[in-house]
Amino acid sequence: MELDYYEILEITQSADKETIKKAYRKMALKYHPDRNQGDKEAEDKFKLVNEAYEVLSDDEKRAVYDRYGKDGLKGGFGSTSGFGGFEDLGDIFSSFFGDSFGRSSRRKRANEEKFVSDLIVNLRLSFKEAIFGCKKNIDFNYKDFCKTCNGTGAKDGQMQTCPKCKGSGQVGISQGFITFAQTCPDCQGSGESIREKCSDCKGKGYQEVNDQVEINIPEGVDSGMNLRVNSKGNVGKNGSRGDLYVKIIADEDRTFIRDENDIYIEYPVFFTQAILGQSVKVPTIRGEATLNLPKGAKDGQRFVLEKEGVKDVHSSQIGNQIVQISIKFPTSLNDEQKELLEKLSESFGIKDGMHQEQKGFFEKIADWFK
Ligand SMILES: [Zn+2]
Ligand SMILES: [Zn+2]
Repeated sequence: MELDYYEILEITQSADKETIKKAYRKMALKYHPDRNQGDKEAEDKFKLVNEAYEVLSDDEKRAVYDRYGKDGLKGGFGSTSGFGGFEDLGDIFSSFFGDSFGRSSRRKRANEEKFVSDLIVNLRLSFKEAIFGCKKNIDFNYKDFCKTCNGTGAKDGQMQTCPKCKGSGQVGISQGFITFAQTCPDCQGSGESIREKCSDCKGKGYQEVNDQVEINIPEGVDSGMNLRVNSKGNVGKNGSRGDLYVKIIADEDRTFIRDENDIYIEYPVFFTQAILGQSVKVPTIRGEATLNLPKGAKDGQRFVLEKEGVKDVHSSQIGNQIVQISIKFPTSLNDEQKELLEKLSESFGIKDGMHQEQKGFFEKIADWFK
C-alpha cells in the first residue's frame, strides 16, 4: 500500500505549516543520500519526502491534494512545478476550484478580469546563493489587459449567451458515481461566450509582455520563501500593475545539510584523534573552524559550533553548525604502526587473548561449569 504524503512525513492532516516544515527537515536529514550512501531504500524515501513536502508546503497544492489526492495534482500542476516557470494565481484557482468551491455559486461577470494582477515566478538558487544572497536578473512574462476588447477577448466586446451551459455558468461533471456542478469550461462561469475573437489578443483578453527585473536576494533565504517586487505583476483593469512574487527554490548541497539556519555535517575523525581528544579542522559554509574533541569522543557524537550557520533573513541572528563525527579506523597497517599498536595493546594489559573487561565476563559465568 502506498503511504500518503502525511504518513510519509509522519504528521497528521491538521498539521500547520511550521510542523510540516519541521517534519520535512527531520525526514530529509534522516534519508539524505550523503548519510545513506548506496542505500536504495533511503534514496527512494528521500525522493518521497521531497515530493510530499513540495505538495504539503504549498497551500493551493495541499488543498487540491486533500480533496482529490495525487490524481488531482496531475495535469495542471505539472507545468507549474517546473523550475523557472510561471504561475498565475488566477489560473490555479480557476482550474482547480472553479467557482463551485469556496466562492461557491457566485457567477463571474463577463467583464470581470480574466486574471489576477499578482504574478508568481519560481527562482532556483544554488545552496550558496540562498545562504549568502546574490543579485539575480529575472526574465518573465506578465499579462497586460487588452484595451481593444476591454479584456473580454471578444471582437468589439460583443458577447453571446454561452451555448454549452445556456448561460448558467455551470455544468455537471461526473467523477466516478458522483456528479459535481462545475464551472463551465467554455465560458469559465460567466455564462457568456465570445462570438468572434478579438484580433488583437486572439480572444485571451490580454497580451503577454516580456519584462526583466534585477532583484537583490538577501542573505539567508530558503526554499518556499517569497520575495515581493512591487508593481511588477500583471496589469489589472484599473491600468496599474500588481505585484510580482519571486518564489525561492534552493538547491541541496552534497556536504552541508541545511535545517533552517542550522547547518549539519557528518565529519570523519580518525580514531587516534578521538581517543586523544585532539583539535580538528572542520569545513564550514564560510571556510573552516576548529572542533575541540573531548578525550574519548564517541562515534556519532554531535558537537555544536556556535554561529557557524546561516544568517537569519529577518533577524540577522546566525545559526549553528552541528558536527556529527564518524570515527574511522585504519584498514591497513605498516610494520611500524603494527609494532606500535601491539605495544599499545600490551600497555593496556591485554594478555593471553584477553583484556581486563573481558575477564569479568568469564568470571560471571564461572559457576556454570562447577
Ligand atoms: Zn482583445
Ligand atoms: Zn458556459
